[in-house]
Order: sequence, then structure tokens, then C-alpha cells
Amino acid sequence: MSRIYLSPPDVGVDERDALLAAFDGGWIAPVGPDLDRFEAGLSSMTGRHAVALVSGTAALHLALLAVGVQPGDDVFVSSFTFAASANAITYCGARPVFVDSDTESWNMSPALLRSALEQAATDGRLPRAVVVVDLYGQCADYEQLVPICREFGVAVVEDAAEALGATAFGRPAGSFGDIAVLSFNGNKIITTSGGGALLTDDEATASRARYLATQARQPAIHYEHTEVGFNYRMSNLLAAVGSAQLDRLPAMSSRRLAINARYREAFAHTPLTFMPVPSWSAWNGWLTCVVFGDGAGRDGVMDALAAADIESRPLWKPLHLQPVFADAPAILDGTSESLFTTGLCLPSGSALTDDQIDRITEIVTRHR
Ligand SMILES: *Cc1c(COP(=O)(O)O)cnc(C)c1O
Repeated sequence: MSRIYLSPPDVGVDERDALLAAFDGGWIAPVGPDLDRFEAGLSSMTGRHAVALVSGTAALHLALLAVGVQPGDDVFVSSFTFAASANAITYCGARPVFVDSDTESWNMSPALLRSALEQAATDGRLPRAVVVVDLYGQCADYEQLVPICREFGVAVVEDAAEALGATAFGRPAGSFGDIAVLSFNGNKIITTSGGGALLTDDEATASRARYLATQARQPAIHYEHTEVGFNYRMSNLLAAVGSAQLDRLPAMSSRRLAINARYREAFAHTPLTFMPVPSWSAWNGWLTCVVFGDGAGRDGVMDALAAADIESRPLWKPLHLQPVFADAPAILDGTSESLFTTGLCLPSGSALTDDQIDRITEIVTRHR
């Protein structure tokens, strides 16, 4: 039996045809009709201008620059996330300050954010921005988080890398805050093999991001430069794959949600619990995560799955525990640490078969 991965790319004949059509049409450079089409598709999904880039990390870097992050600034960011969310902050010469999660959505806690901002205001050291992450395909509680940031005059960057296709409060992921980013890395809900996008309501911000992403090239025949730029633009070939994936997103998201429902049914009579989905949230099903009460049995299940050639992983190790960020301040209440020690991500790719899920649930149920 072949190895079962956590979230492998789900690509097929549509993506292959789109890629070869772009290739045969001669649009190999990082401009072209497929790039325009992909950006238009992202735009119609999120209601914002979209700029397609080489990665979600590059998108975060440009988003932070767009909201004015400068060397020496503080930027608040969810601690319970992938390292990329904070790495981009350090690219700007700024310092990440980590904020813990709530238990309602596993995303940034509005209560902790408020107290952290109050303290920062008292210290005369308000952050330039807050990076709020939509973890595992579920949006954060923006109805609370955004007004708090507004109150303190702090910009909001939505890291929706994992959340394309989700909605919250009836609005799409990527539409919250001042600016948002998406990722199309190989393990995300849609993939271009590698890629990302920046989303903004402001046309000028979108054009400036395109300009910075193409080496800050002034419109002169000899390439005039007045600023340092980046080589961050997505290639037209990959955008062709992205458009084909975007067409299949509703089906792939439904399949992931169906996989989650199958896990829930199989574990209904066990003490295992799942990521909570608040009433205001419609998540995209990206990864099914289970929590083992006090953590007992988690590692045994992980080992048993590994022995059967099935990939599973603990939930994200909070960034405040990562050696590389050991010196960064953190506002904590233990939520993310507890999820890290007791939680497990299960295979959730949209191409998983029901038979494969049954193999997984059988092993989990036997070893928990
Ligand atoms: C994947 C991911 C990123 C980075 O995206 P890349 O395209 O891999 O650079 C950023 N934030 C979160 C939460 C992610 O999951």
C-alpha cells in the first residue's frame, strides 16, 4: 500500500492541460494571460485586488511593508502558527511579539490582544501591525479583533495562507483586516506547487506590490531604479495551474469537510475532540485536528500511524517555544502549549479515499 500523506497536492488532468496550454502558448515569463486570469479569480472570490507572488511568505513580507512596518517596530502575531508568519516580520527588521490563542477558534485571543495592546500603549510602544492567522482553514474572530486594533490605531494583516474558501461572519477569508495574504504551497487547499498572493482593497497598494515584486523597475527602457525591490512575482505557468485549482476549490473543500465528518463519526464514542467551529465560522476543512484529552495516547497513535506508513503530525509548535524566537516577548495563557502537547493533525487531502480514512480511523481507535 502506498504512503498516505497529511495534505498532498490534489492535481490531475485539468491542471496538466492548463499548464501545457500556457507552455505551448509561449507564456513562460512571469507575466501573461494565465496570471491575469488567476488574479481575477482570486479577486472575485475575495472581493479584493489580488497580486500573485512566489510564496505566501513573500506576500506577507510585502503586506508588512505596505502597512508601514519598519526596522525597530514591534509586530504582534499569533503564536500558534507556522514559522513563516513571524519570519516575514524579521525580514522587515521588526520584532515579533507573540499572542496566544483562544479556545473558541484556536486563533488569536481577542482578550489577550486587548490586554497586550493596553500594556503596549502604557509603555509607549504600540506595534505597527498585528498579524492575525486563520489557522487550519478557519478564520479568526475578526468581529472582535479588528475593532480592538482600530481602537489603538494598529493595522491588521490577515494571514489567510491556510484558509482560502473559508468564510466568517458571511465574509470570505482574505477579506479581513487592512491587507491579507494567501499561500498556494504544495500542502495547502489549492496549490501552484509554490506560490502566494497579496489581497488589498486599495488599487494603489496592489500596484505598488506588483512594482516592488518586479525589482522596483521604473517604466524606463533602460530599467531605472529609485528603490530596492524584490523578485517575488508568480510565473505565468504556475498561475495556469492555480486557475485550474481555483475552479476545483469548492469541490476540494467539500471533500475535505466530508473527510472531517467521517472522522467525527468514527470517533463519536471516544474521548477525542476536534477543532471547535464557532457559529460564525464556515471553515474550509483544510486539516482535521484531534485533541487527546490530557495528551495520553497521542504519541502512541502517531507511532502506530507511522508504522502503517501514514503521516500525522502534532499541531503547530507555538512560535514562542521555537529556539529561533526565544528572545521575543509573548503574551500567553497556556492555550497553544496545551494544543501542541495534546493535538494531532490527521491526513485530510481531498484525494483521500473512504477506504484510506477507514484504515486511519481503525488504527487511531485501536491505539488511543
Ligand atoms: C504555509 C503558510 C505560510 C507561508 O506560505 P508559503 O507559501 O509556504 O510561503 C504562512 N502562514 C501560514 C499560516 C502558513 O500555513
